[in-house]
Amino acid sequence: MSSQNIARVVVDVPSSQTNRPFDYRIPDKYQGIVQPGVRVIIPFGPRKVMGYVVALTDESEFDTLKPVTDVLDLTPILTSELLNLGKWLTDKTLSFYISSFQVMLPQVLKAKYKKELWRLEEEELPHTLEQLFAGRDVIDFEEFEQAGISYHQLQKVVHDGLIDVHYEVKSKETKKTTRMIQPGKDALELEEAGVDLPKQAVKQKEVIHYFIENPEPVSQKHLLAELKTTRASLKPLLEKGLLKEFKQEVYRDPFKNREFERTEPFPLTEEQQAAITPVLKDIETNSHEVMLLHGVTGSGKTEIYLQSIQEVIDKGEEAIMLVPEIALTPQMVERFKGRFGSRVAVMHSALSAGEKYDEWRKIQRKEVQVVVGARSAIFAPFTNLGIIIIDEEHETSYKQEDHPRYHARDVAIYRGERHNCPVVLGSATPTLETFARAKKGNYRLLTLSKRMNDASMPEVELVDMREELHAGNRSMFSRALMEKIQERLHRKEQVVLFLNRRGYSTFVMCRDCGYVSECPHCDIALTYHRKQERLKCHYCAFEEPLPSRCPECESESIRYFGTGTQKVEENLQQLLPEAKVVRMDVDTTRRKGAHEKLLSQFGRGEADILLGTQMIAKGLDFQNVTLVGVLTADSLLNLPDFRSAEKTFQLLTQVSGRAGRHLKPGEVVVQTYTPEHYSIELASQYDYNQFFSHEMKLRKAFQYPPFYYLTLITVSHPNQLKAQEVTQKICKFLKGKLSDSSTILGPTPSALARIKDRYRYQCMIKYKQEPEQRKLLKKVLHYYDEDIRKNELQISIDFQPYQL
Ligand code: ADP
Ligand code: ZN
Ligand code: ZN
Repeated sequence: MSSQNIARVVVDVPSSQTNRPFDYRIPDKYQGIVQPGVRVIIPFGPRKVMGYVVALTDESEFDTLKPVTDVLDLTPILTSELLNLGKWLTDKTLSFYISSFQVMLPQVLKAKYKKELWRLEEEELPHTLEQLFAGRDVIDFEEFEQAGISYHQLQKVVHDGLIDVHYEVKSKETKKTTRMIQPGKDALELEEAGVDLPKQAVKQKEVIHYFIENPEPVSQKHLLAELKTTRASLKPLLEKGLLKEFKQEVYRDPFKNREFERTEPFPLTEEQQAAITPVLKDIETNSHEVMLLHGVTGSGKTEIYLQSIQEVIDKGEEAIMLVPEIALTPQMVERFKGRFGSRVAVMHSALSAGEKYDEWRKIQRKEVQVVVGARSAIFAPFTNLGIIIIDEEHETSYKQEDHPRYHARDVAIYRGERHNCPVVLGSATPTLETFARAKKGNYRLLTLSKRMNDASMPEVELVDMREELHAGNRSMFSRALMEKIQERLHRKEQVVLFLNRRGYSTFVMCRDCGYVSECPHCDIALTYHRKQERLKCHYCAFEEPLPSRCPECESESIRYFGTGTQKVEENLQQLLPEAKVVRMDVDTTRRKGAHEKLLSQFGRGEADILLGTQMIAKGLDFQNVTLVGVLTADSLLNLPDFRSAEKTFQLLTQVSGRAGRHLKPGEVVVQTYTPEHYSIELASQYDYNQFFSHEMKLRKAFQYPPFYYLTLITVSHPNQLKAQEVTQKICKFLKGKLSDSSTILGPTPSALARIKDRYRYQCMIKYKQEPEQRKLLKKVLHYYDEDIRKNELQISIDFQPYQL
């Protein structure tokens, strides 16, 4: 063990040349401290960079090794399973090795930070450390380093939980929330602000001032450290009753002050019982198996997840529950918190960096057994997994679009194999890939065919918008939809209106010459934002004021077109001035907590109509919603994407599931210009099986997944010719090397041919089997490494792409 004085380190220098571990010598003082899974600082060329230790060894092919400069962790932050997973991910997705680790860890551990030592318990520390802290609870890490105390001593007390190495993020935004963590300590809160204190009470005034600036409760320990003072200065304030002392909960908790009503497990229906039995059996026998739980919304899938997880917890094991980001609604979280209480960690993007870090720490310290989270929660550092569940497995958000370009489903199966536990994929509309595997028997198919409480899926009415036009109705609301909305308003019931954001936005066009305002840096029309009276690009930061005259022909008839949510809201208010409308889209939900606030407004019945984009399609469950309207069912169909029919079917099914989930029956109105399209027609009949067989025939005929695999290579360069030339060269190279049964398409301009002043071309490989493919593509990346590092050329390789 002690002879292993060389560390293999993956360095934070993302490039194809550095995509392997480098060897560093471990100086004596770090012996036993530097171990696999800790972060270190190492010299790399002229710079010092961060790196992850992936292994220790006693021999290197190099004679002289540079030493490790600093150690950032005293206990590993990556388990050996995650270290192996990182390697696997890197190879599988041809990503930067470093990015595979970055994606597993909370942001705080990647940012610039101040390192501190925090004393956690009153218990006696070893003499040298006790002296160092000298009555304080927080000290700067530098002080520790200067004191010359051995790392081993520190490592031991960190291990025993007496001291914590804490990272205070330097950025302004996260600083505030970081302030409130303090395990198990008494907290303080200001009771009264406008007080007169004697002139000489400088410290007391500082304390009051502190609270005026930071009104949130704070731990004593942190307050004292922050103000460099002692408890003596708090005492008079406490005695006067200006400050209140109380027990603070352990972590920054986004759900604090929220009571979760405890929910008891339901006795399962016969169908649910049949579906859960094999899951429970796998849990009991530690068997790995992938299962597809296929059931419409409201058929009781979530109850099956909850009861399976309960079994896992009872066995002393851990569970990962993935839900799509937009389905991480307060309602969803409530169901898990309500059943498992404080044993659940929640991870999603609406949390602050500090909150995310704390949730992650709970998992790392084994203080929770369940994590409910979006895509990256699949990397939760559990060591004893009993189940992994992916709800809405067809959601495209499970695929990461940047390094490493992984799909959470693949990672789930990887981890499920290693932990010998079941992986359950749930959906009403599984991807064709998954359903095909289930039909073949590669996955076990579990089916829920009925909705709970004998509720039926709501009746769907398709409205042909061409006929509306013929009848002289030019509005975006059909007569049928209008009539039904009015009915609901009259009956004091609620309505959800859905507008697909993609494919439809509000753009500005000149009525005289047809000029459209486009982004000067991207090949895309600018979107009109009414509140600010500005045009914005959704791909780069470009914006400009709304022109009053056409820049081409000077005409004043330059207007905005299209159907943005803002415009729909306006029209709706004109038609139904008495209706209260809540609008939910990227603009109204930008602020933290806005999403939740709008939903609870609607839930309390303070609005009649909820109007929104994708984000209202999932997970919502409102008693009083009896009508769902889809304004533009075709907008997805027109996208240049082989999955467009599948996505349309999925979206329509999902949206329809929002209506009539309770006692009152629901109705759905779908407006479309192509009611005869099979995806729209079959979605209106909830006929997944029919859709599946029809779509499979087309996929086969056009050589698409699941019959063929795809690899998409996108090349971008500021110079259009160069971008095309490189793509051409790559296509040619691949054509010469890949097998004859593969098809190589390209070079063709990407669907978005220019973004941020970079021209984009692509090459697509369609194949059944191509074992040498990764090797060849690695060669390509190596060949262009110089240009890529200068950031002139970008080559992205995407296996099984979701966005074409
Ligand atoms: P899904 O996840 O498929 O949409 P849910 O698990 O949310 O379905 O179930 C739909 C509704 O039925 C929920 O309100 C849930 O509480 C209720 N439910 C689920 N299982 C049962 C059961 N066995 N008995 C009674 N109610 C149930
Ligand atoms: Zn014009
Ligand atoms: Zn732009």
